Amino acid sequence: MSGRVFLVGAGPGDPKLLTLRGVECLRQAEVVIYDRLAAPELLEHAPASAERIFVGKGAGQHTMSQEQINELLVDRAQAGRMVVRLKGGDPYVFGRGGEEALFLAQACVAFEVVPGITSAIAGLSYAGIPVTHRGIATSFAVITGHEDPAKPDSAIDWARLARGADTLVFLMGIEHLNEIVGHLRASGRPARQPAAAVRWATTSRQEAVFGSLGDIVERVREAELGPPALVVVGDVVRLHEQLDWRAKLPLSGLRVLVTRARDQSSQLAARLAELGAVAIEYPTIEIRAADDGGAFEAALARLSEFAWVVFTSANGVDAVFDRLATRGADARAFGSAQVCAIGPSTAASLLTRGIIADWIPEEFISSAILQGFRAHDLRGAHVLLARADIAPAKLADALREQGAEVADVAAYRTAPAEESRTRLIEALEAGEVDIITLTSSSTVRNLMSAIGARRDLLRGVNIACIGPVTAATAEELGLTPDVIAQEHTVPGLIRALEGWAVQARSDKAAEPITAEARS
Ligand code: SAH
Repeated sequence: MSGRVFLVGAGPGDPKLLTLRGVECLRQAEVVIYDRLAAPELLEHAPASAERIFVGKGAGQHTMSQEQINELLVDRAQAGRMVVRLKGGDPYVFGRGGEEALFLAQACVAFEVVPGITSAIAGLSYAGIPVTHRGIATSFAVITGHEDPAKPDSAIDWARLARGADTLVFLMGIEHLNEIVGHLRASGRPARQPAAAVRWATTSRQEAVFGSLGDIVERVREAELGPPALVVVGDVVRLHEQLDWRAKLPLSGLRVLVTRARDQSSQLAARLAELGAVAIEYPTIEIRAADDGGAFEAALARLSEFAWVVFTSANGVDAVFDRLATRGADARAFGSAQVCAIGPSTAASLLTRGIIADWIPEEFISSAILQGFRAHDLRGAHVLLARADIAPAKLADALREQGAEVADVAAYRTAPAEESRTRLIEALEAGEVDIITLTSSSTVRNLMSAIGARRDLLRGVNIACIGPVTAATAEELGLTPDVIAQEHTVPGLIRALEGWAVQARSDKAAEPITAEARS
């Protein structure tokens, strides 16, 4: 029983740029061995049970030597495991993938190579640079910049290289940029030739510096651009002025702090990233099991006896179904109970559990639910309210006023996420946040308690709230919301942010004119 190794190209950084075959391999993986350039999100494709081994090779810091990595691959495969070796970009482009494959071949371990999108080409596209272009560049070369350029017998024939290809792309070259530029200039490339450096290309942290062979060293130094970065030299670089599609995204460059329960933050963060924003995820709350499990348990035991079950969040849905599962029960436990979802994401969450909500209020706040229930005769009806521990009691009270028998139980508990607090403070201190998204009253409270006395950190930071209830809590706690979503959902919040960004940009553009008018 021998295992197998898949040398999988992880793509250039954007986790969506992994191949379908790569996803297939990860889904079957029993061991995943990965390094720094493989996006962490890719590991989510692997089963939770898979062993994950970080062999992080960064510039200058080797967690594990290449020999140790080779041995590890053979060892796990010979133990009969399905091993995925995830390598940034394409495995055979300067990733030492060839060496790993040779080692496997010599050890008679079966392996497969899954090509990946190389950063050498895709990284340029994301900066608006086509690697070839009709009439401008008919050839390109991908070169290692890692060679010690000071050694006299360089393996790179600089004179041939400078003349041999139109576009030159250097990987691992940022630290030797000065020497690289020197060689190219000495070999006849003109100082006015366009050049660029792109760091963390295709990721939300992408940064690019543009210039010419004459000034790129200076500009890179000024921007403090370090590895990992691509260096590109050639006339195609000039096209970025027209082709930088990323800079034209509606939220391009906006740094948004996403504060949601950890389980939900990814959806908002992923959508923001698609729109060009840099989403900084700081979960301020975590979802835990409810303290008083007894009442919740008792309610679930007689679930089918309720006339209505009301869910006020997707977390409530998860909590109910997770608890049902531990009882060996599923959606059938609802029997003929009608189900109300407070908003579309709660309804979507129910749908994934096989339940179509009977009613979704038009407005996604508790008071609208009450309004809606007035149409039903609730006298004597048993209603289960599956909510968070700190949800307002208003809803239950009002339902009782209408004659309902309300079982008002905490299905889950929200707790402050301690470990992320330090990172939150650091990001604010470093001025890395343009706007903070607040998606519930508890995220506001948790944010403010995380910040504590350091209110000064919020100066100049904008605040976006998902709806009026969250905004009211924010105001109570001394914040001034700059954005309040009209539709109280995540997509509604994103639309509001887009509108705000457009406004903020035109305000900025208008600034010098105002200053001029005043002077
Ligand atoms: N096999 C990889 C390259 C590995 S060598 C590929 O095909 O992309 C590592 C070098 O690749 C880094 O030093 C850097 O120069 C470049 N690189 C990889 N990913 C990058 C990214 N997202 N942004 C900029 N450079 C990157």
